[in-house]
Amino acid sequence: MEDAIVAITKYLVTKRLAGDTITILSIKEYLIDGLSPSTIGHKYKISKFRVRGYVQRIIDKARSHYIAASIVRMVFPYIISVDPAVLKIGNKYVCLLCDTPLRAEQVEQHIRRKHRDVINELTNYIISRIRRERPK
Ligand SMILES: [Zn+2]
Repeated sequence: MEDAIVAITKYLVTKRLAGDTITILSIKEYLIDGLSPSTIGHKYKISKFRVRGYVQRIIDKARSHYIAASIVRMVFPYIISVDPAVLKIGNKYVCLLCDTPLRAEQVEQHIRRKHRDVINELTNYIISRIRRERPK
């Protein structure tokens, strides 16, 4: 379960830094709120297959629907309180961490490759907070 917590936290932190909050909300609304993929897809104007794809990636990391849901429930408030590192200006993007202009399709890869230290730092912080609040 520890590996799954790290993997899921790192994945969601990366999405949040990249400004991809729709993916995070889709995962949360499916696993925690119990909304259907078609309801979520309609809300965010994405296909229900895409919603299923997002959720499946999380379930694969936990190897269980139940464990995936409990991990997302624990980390979600921390993930959503992280500030996105990318600002959308018109149809362009700027990385606020290094002031680099980016195209939409470059954003996530840029964050993952150039700001691994920030991802790891936030992941470690969130996990230490979760450990503190969970009784042993
Ligand atoms: Zn950057």
